[in-house]
Amino acid sequence: LLYNQVQDLKGAIRVYCRVKPCLHEQSDDQSTVDYIGENGNIMIANRHKQGKDARKIFTFNKVFGGNTTQEQIYVDTQPLIRSVLDGYNVCIFAYGQTGSGKTYTMSGPDITTKESWGVNYRALQDLFQLTETRKNIIKYEVGVQMIEIYNEQVRDLLLNGLNVPDASLVSVKCTQDVLDLMKIGQRNRAVGATALNERSSRSHSVLTVHIRGKELVSGSTLKGCLHLVDLAGSERVDKSEATGDRLKEAQHINKSLSALGDVISALAQKSTHIPYRNSKLTQVLQDSLGGHAKTLMFVHINPETSAIGETISTLKFAERVA
Ligand code: ADP
Ligand code: MG
Repeated sequence: LLYNQVQDLKGAIRVYCRVKPCLHEQSDDQSTVDYIGENGNIMIANRHKQGKDARKIFTFNKVFGGNTTQEQIYVDTQPLIRSVLDGYNVCIFAYGQTGSGKTYTMSGPDITTKESWGVNYRALQDLFQLTETRKNIIKYEVGVQMIEIYNEQVRDLLLNGLNVPDASLVSVKCTQDVLDLMKIGQRNRAVGATALNERSSRSHSVLTVHIRGKELVSGSTLKGCLHLVDLAGSERVDKSEATGDRLKEAQHINKSLSALGDVISALAQKSTHIPYRNSKLTQVLQDSLGGHAKTLMFVHINPETSAIGETISTLKFAERVA
């Protein structure tokens, strides 16, 4: 069954929508999420509008409501992750406005409690476990890279050097090695930033897992890689208010997120020209977007009434790439 699921996903672009729980005391009628269907439907209510324009249904591969656990999210991500060990390239993106739960999905709120681990740590742990069970058939090597893309510049988070064209690839043997590296990466990410959150919401962070496998009997080799991408916040910045560096950052983010949207929708439409060159992010990920590569986009929405504008634009972005 697992194998079939993976085959189905080949070359495909999947979009999952995750709704953040209402964290504040809120009565039901204040949430903009009216209804989540079993079949990937979500109905959004715009409380500022009336009549037929007040509600809209969006459809994705899956929609996860506010009470979905990290474990449940991983169950639906696992087949994709595991296919990396069979030689596929996979990209998983977290998209959404700042505060909508991207980092929660990818990393989780607390590295020290396993139940709260996000996709990143679960994926690495799962890959290590699987390489162990296959070790009499295939010998695998695992390496990781961490980069950040800020204002269209790539920074290696493991070397802490600025503008490194080839990010350092660090060989890892177990989940603990990865956890240690992530701490270094996170620390380096904070360097030069007034507040980590500020900076992280305006840069894309990419954790890449490279796999090399060698079949012991035949001697044949395979390569696969997994990119786990926590994107910069997708919120629109008011041009009349932002100036200087803030405006420049916003323009770079806008440009790269729309370039990503253009690439994914061109791939979804099987277009002959895929515009990879329009942003650093799509250039870096070029080999893992399209062809036989697999893509999963988690779009995050915050169900609070005040976020309705961003929620609608996030869902429209997602609908375009689905
Ligand atoms: P983003 O990375 O999109 O800016 P975060 O992941 O940092 O957003 O989430 C913002 C806040 O909301 C954090 O305090 C986070 O712990 C909380 N949060 C996000 N998603 C969830 C969730 N599914 N369940 C519980 N808390 C969440
Ligand atoms: Mg974040």
